[in-house]
Amino acid sequence: MSPPEKRSALLRKVRLSLADLRQEGIEFLGRPLPGAPVERERFDPSSESDPVEGLRLIRENLGECTRCRLHEGRNRIVFGEGNPQAPVVFVGEGPGAEEDRTGRPFVGRAGELLTRIIESVGWQREDVYICNIVKCRPPKNRDPATDEVATCRPFLDRQLLTIRPKVIVTLGKPALSTLLGRNVAITKMRGIWLDWNGIPLLPTYHPAYLLRNYTRETRQAVWDDLRKVRARVDETSGS
Ligand code: SF4
Repeated sequence: MSPPEKRSALLRKVRLSLADLRQEGIEFLGRPLPGAPVERERFDPSSESDPVEGLRLIRENLGECTRCRLHEGRNRIVFGEGNPQAPVVFVGEGPGAEEDRTGRPFVGRAGELLTRIIESVGWQREDVYICNIVKCRPPKNRDPATDEVATCRPFLDRQLLTIRPKVIVTLGKPALSTLLGRNVAITKMRGIWLDWNGIPLLPTYHPAYLLRNYTRETRQAVWDDLRKVRARVDETSGS
């Protein structure tokens, strides 16, 4: 192995070890010099400059995860998919039966609707990134429990910090409540611009809710939200 190869192998090991420590809740290592500011982000492996490599490391760190009880009933981990440099990340609640079978997010009926919504504002599904707050299917499609969400949450945070999209769109109440860290009513918050770690966040309805309540009003609301998202992305891209 050449010296540069040795160096990058060593760096990779260090990053993975730090990611493990962070998973254990350790945010800072070492002792700062007197008077020196504490740079907590210095050891954050999500601050990879290359989002492709950053996402790969997060997936590698997740492994065949057994950190919460949701692993017991899953067939496949649904990590997320799409463009690592996506202008928009859609965050849903958790995988359903079809997602659990294929290992891909939003591929059932709700997923088909989400794809149509994305296309309605001129993007393709491959242009954006899609993931969920938990990566394994809750049994019988129940809501993920608070401790399950808390255990899986660091991986979502790292995905979002690695991609750093121009806009995050949360789909439904659980995704919004998780990112805001408090219980919120989606009906009151839908369509209102919020902020997550300096990234604009727009909550909208979950496509599964839309399928259950396929009225002119709900459809209009979601399409209006997506148009706002598209306009914001175009504004910040200078197009
Ligand atoms: S839901 Fe997340 S934390 Fe729980 S087992 Fe799956 S990947 Fe691990």
